[in-house]
Amino acid sequence: MPMKSLPSEITICGHTFDKYIEMIKTFHGHVAPGVVIGGFMVDLACRNLPQGEYFDAICETRSCLPDAIQLLTPCTVGNGWLRIIDLGRFALSLFEKYTGKGVRVYVDSQNLDDWPELRTFFFKLKPKKEHDSEALMGEINQAHTSIFGVQKVMVNINSIQSKHHDAFAVCPLCGEGYPENDGEICLGCQGKAPYLYCEAQSSQED
Ligand code: ZN
Repeated sequence: MPMKSLPSEITICGHTFDKYIEMIKTFHGHVAPGVVIGGFMVDLACRNLPQGEYFDAICETRSCLPDAIQLLTPCTVGNGWLRIIDLGRFALSLFEKYTGKGVRVYVDSQNLDDWPELRTFFFKLKPKKEHDSEALMGEINQAHTSIFGVQKVMVNINSIQSKHHDAFAVCPLCGEGYPENDGEICLGCQGKAPYLYCEAQSSQED
């Protein structure tokens, strides 16, 4: 009878499982199950890429999955090659940036029936601290890519063009640069900044 695959036999975009766990610790702060699962998803997407040289990423959730994409591909939020379009689905697409042709990997909820801990995790059936994390990690490794679905997609490139600000102005209130289209004063001074206070500090080392 074949042995269940052990974590050490799994590779994630060329990294061993243990190496990927180390990368998660460094980047994400702790070994979040969602980033581990996300690594398998990115790996599966990369194995199913259509032809092409330059790929961008779309992530359909803000939690965990963006970090797997940023760890394992050149696509980051900062360089603009990763777009987070928060549809609330634990899914990602990698697509050829000029044609939009790509691959989408998602969690197939029908495949979760065999995996009670994974099901509990994805449907948030228990508060986080009540999760049996050892059992969950065991299921993540055993299920590996079997809980995912893979689809071919054609991304509507026009719909995801990032908003280019053509002109900047200096805000008369805060004195900082801002996109002119936002109005007479910047969005921060229009009350959209999240700070309870924001005042001068005498020394940056205080
Ligand atoms: Zn301002």
